[in-house]
Amino acid sequence: MPARAAALAHADDLADFVAVSPSSYHAAHEVARRLQDAGFTRLDETASWPAQAGGRFVVVRDGAVIAWAVPTDAAGTTPVHVLGAHTDSPGFKLKPKPTTGSHGWLQAAVEVYGGPLLNSWLDRELRLAGRLALSDGRVVLAATGPLLRLPQLAIHLDRGVNDGLALDKQTGTQPVWGLGDAASADLLAELASAAGVDAADIRGFDAVVADAARGAVFGKDDAFFAAGRLDDLASVHAGVVALIEAADAPAPVIPMLAAFDHEELGSASRSGAAGPFLEDVLARVYASLGADAADQRRAFAASWHLSSDVGHSVHPNFAHRHDPVVQPLLGSGPILKINANQRYATDAVGAAAWAAWCEGAGVPSQEFVSNNTVPCGSTIGPITATRLGIRTVDVGIPILSMHSARELAGVSDLYDLSRVARTFFAG
Ligand code: ZN
Repeated sequence: MPARAAALAHADDLADFVAVSPSSYHAAHEVARRLQDAGFTRLDETASWPAQAGGRFVVVRDGAVIAWAVPTDAAGTTPVHVLGAHTDSPGFKLKPKPTTGSHGWLQAAVEVYGGPLLNSWLDRELRLAGRLALSDGRVVLAATGPLLRLPQLAIHLDRGVNDGLALDKQTGTQPVWGLGDAASADLLAELASAAGVDAADIRGFDAVVADAARGAVFGKDDAFFAAGRLDDLASVHAGVVALIEAADAPAPVIPMLAAFDHEELGSASRSGAAGPFLEDVLARVYASLGADAADQRRAFAASWHLSSDVGHSVHPNFAHRHDPVVQPLLGSGPILKINANQRYATDAVGAAAWAAWCEGAGVPSQEFVSNNTVPCGSTIGPITATRLGIRTVDVGIPILSMHSARELAGVSDLYDLSRVARTFFAG
């Protein structure tokens, strides 16, 4: 397939991936489902694991997922090449007793999750999605169709709105989802019915709000792709595509995809990058390969973590917010993220490794660095590097509208990221 057609097909597949991944739990499930279709064995953390050499495996922990393919001739010192990403996105999460309302409207009680661009959530049809913990011990996924909306106040009732919209995080963010009396309504019944279970059986829930619109390609020459949750499902999806290809080819390393939850909150949880999930998986894989403590340290010392998350393309209306010289542009290739204060883990050696992987994939790359007066965010790279000591490079694709309900990426960058990931996985 010519590169242009392949990039468009990749974007369409990403639109499918985002559509079935409205919550971190759905994203982890979809990664596992795709990999199981490609011959990966799903492992249970409470069970003993089969011998690793020559196998391909996936394990889900809450909203996180790790998958890997072990070469037939792997030994206790075989390095691992981890592509890291995250499954969560900023937005809203249901509070306990979520069915509220007033003045004839039914509303949902939500808490702000991470740092969303609040205004971007206005006037969109929204879904509810997450997991339900049931009285019989089962945990099921649930996702409604379009159900909620945060209606903006008409300009006639707020004449100053275009001078700067201020939304109170409590009173200004509670979506409507119907008409009637809250006392006789049950928002959780909507989730229960979507999952095919009885609302009375729900003992716990983790449910977030997601944009209901499908991702779409548009713009001159079909250059643009817009969708919800590109931060960071664009990286998770590129990793799945690359890992499925890599699993069929012999490699001198163990290719591994690690998609963590809770990055938007700082990663401190049992399924976040600051938790032990990756370390737990690596310990079991290397034990199966006969590694002693020294072997595993030797393997780690020769390993890499390519930490992939979205970064900022230069914005033509606000170019002064970016570095005056280093200005990555949507459509000109994935970015290498650099920060003197270790908000990103990239260093000289990592930059050289990234350059080699991009060259090997025939993919252009760009650099990102912040304007000194506009500090950047951080990501999982420095966190896992601190935990495990594995050499780490922070990379990603340039986007606009980061943390919007619907973000903007470049079609060619999405595809190029998956190609570099493929080369990275080949060792
Ligand atoms: Zn991110």
